[in-house]
Amino acid sequence: MARPKITVIGSSNTDMIIKLERIPRPGETILGGEFVTAAGGKGANQAVAAARAGGDVTFVAHVGQDMFGEQAIAGFVKDGIHVEYVTRDSAAPSGVALIFVAKDGQNSIAVAGGANGRLCPEDVKRAERAIAGAGAVLMQLETPLETVQAAAELAARAEAPVILNPAPARVLPDQLLKLVSILTPNAIEAESLTGIAVTDEASAAQAADKLRARGVETVILTLGARGAFVATASTRQLVPGLPVKAVDTTAAGDVFNGALAVALGEDRPLLEAVRFANAAAAISVTRLGAQPSAPRRKEIEALCAGKCPT
Ligand code: ADP
Repeated sequence: MARPKITVIGSSNTDMIIKLERIPRPGETILGGEFVTAAGGKGANQAVAAARAGGDVTFVAHVGQDMFGEQAIAGFVKDGIHVEYVTRDSAAPSGVALIFVAKDGQNSIAVAGGANGRLCPEDVKRAERAIAGAGAVLMQLETPLETVQAAAELAARAEAPVILNPAPARVLPDQLLKLVSILTPNAIEAESLTGIAVTDEASAAQAADKLRARGVETVILTLGARGAFVATASTRQLVPGLPVKAVDTTAAGDVFNGALAVALGEDRPLLEAVRFANAAAAISVTRLGAQPSAPRRKEIEALCAGKCPT
């Protein structure tokens, strides 16, 4: 089967992580930390996850003309992602996240979005062919909302399905939601969008109904280890997560969205696509890191074979 064309529009960051005894207080210096860098940003994480899950991925993004941008692009190329719409921006540095992780697992994160904030509707217009011809267009909310809106309009005009992962949570206008085929909030994002605390299947259904009433066709509410709650005009169902030993849940949602886009781009039925996404995300939580944890298609299929709960 030909690999489905997936166009991901969004952010790319470099995470700079210092693991140390405890988080420094304002004005305090703590020695003895251990430093690691990791490729991140929700857009980039989802693009990499989709490529490894079997998608023919085009990424639309802005990075700076600095070492971080260069490394990020090299990483995308290594994963076979088309980078002709990843702009090297001379007016802003690449997005970075500075992360302290304390021994007890607490963290403290500061993000400078840099070039991500300059991804604009003209960039999307330039990528029109990649958007219109995509089996799925996948977006998040770490880049300007007007850009997300412009891309959704282009996709809708071409009848390319739009998957919007509304993360990080922010207020969304109905004019955007009406263009979204599938909205994939986690429990926190669903609560922030609807005011309904999502704690179980009943509250997930309530939140999903509220979002569908605003014009979204399908809501897939991710519920961590419990899996994902799917709500359409005709289905309301929990697709259970796969039991695994979680080591690091960073980017579980990103891997879920990347894999979901691929399965839908292959025209698989919705619930089967969600099972595939649950399996991909379950593998990712057994591994450390964001992009390094995204599994390859063979691994996802091996876990799915016979084991994916319905
Ligand atoms: P986010 O990472 O965006 O906060 P969730 O925590 O809902 O989103 O996780 C996204 C998906 O990752 C879930 O729907 C599920 O498929 C998978 N997942 C997350 N945590 C686990 C876990 N502990 N065990 C198995 N699957 C998990």
